[in-house]
Amino acid sequence: MERHRAEGEPTDVDWSALGPADLHTHSRESDGMDAPGAVVRAAAAAGLGVIALTDHDTVAGWAEATDAARETGVALLPGVEFSSQIGPASVHVLGYLLDPEAPAFMGERERIRTERITRAERMVHAIGRDYPLRWEHVEQHSAPGATIGRPHIADALVTLGIVPDRSSAFEGILHWQGGYYQPHRAPAPEEAIGIIREAGGVSVLAHPGGRGRPVLRMGVLGDLVDAGLGGLEVWHRDNDETDRRRLLAEAAQHDLLVTGSSDYHGTGKPNRLGEHTTDPAVVAEIVRRATGWPPVLPQR
Ligand code: AMP
Ligand code: FE
Ligand code: FE
Ligand code: ZN
Repeated sequence: MERHRAEGEPTDVDWSALGPADLHTHSRESDGMDAPGAVVRAAAAAGLGVIALTDHDTVAGWAEATDAARETGVALLPGVEFSSQIGPASVHVLGYLLDPEAPAFMGERERIRTERITRAERMVHAIGRDYPLRWEHVEQHSAPGATIGRPHIADALVTLGIVPDRSSAFEGILHWQGGYYQPHRAPAPEEAIGIIREAGGVSVLAHPGGRGRPVLRMGVLGDLVDAGLGGLEVWHRDNDETDRRRLLAEAAQHDLLVTGSSDYHGTGKPNRLGEHTTDPAVVAEIVRRATGWPPVLPQR
């Protein structure tokens, strides 16, 4: 697979002719349920023309997703959902078309992935005092090398019959105020944005209205723009109507791109592929700005 965008590569793609674009999805390389290729095939079956694979803190699904994109004719924007934090609040930054071998990106995502394991172990240990949950159960519910998160603990709790589904786990035992929650260390969002930018990628703040602890209302957006933020994920089920209006106003004020996506996790979340999509002109602009990695385009 070629690393950087080749000189003279076609930039005249008519993104509006390809079909709807869903720019935020997960595979079992993080906390989605489908293999990376299956996410792409599901996107094709759902009638999407463009998809971004954005697993948490890993690029491990890119190669398989690329093969599936070539097979199905779906255009693929390889990406990542980078963990960051402001105090105890976690802030997710999407990165598109970035160089996976950029040293800071490589180092930081591995550091976060390691932190996520020890943090999950601490949570499992605490939960294990009250419920028959053991670390082996969590391991049984995560693919080898996957970025570990609360969803894997949730799946173990479901199998043990302690909760009926992932969502119930998140509303109770795994809730950040549920008594067992542990944060994992991650860089500040400005740093995450800087790392994405340094790797030639384009950054978009994921679900900034985000139920619970919204970065939108933390008064930091100006700082993130100064750090090089490229866009806001406005069309996402976790942003309510009020959030969306505010986000659109912020995007206009700071000249930010506006994206939309499903945040698909397979059967692990109710989010359906293509439930929100991104304007083709915005997809074109992301591709135009990025220098770290090329999109996978359908053969013409
Ligand atoms: P963590 O990053 O380990 O703190 O876990 C947060 C992740 O859990 C997010 O990436 C979400 O995709 C996922 N998540 C949050 N709420 C739910 C839910 N209600 N059902 C399934 N997954 C969820
Ligand atoms: Fe997730
Ligand atoms: Fe997220
Ligand atoms: Zn996500």
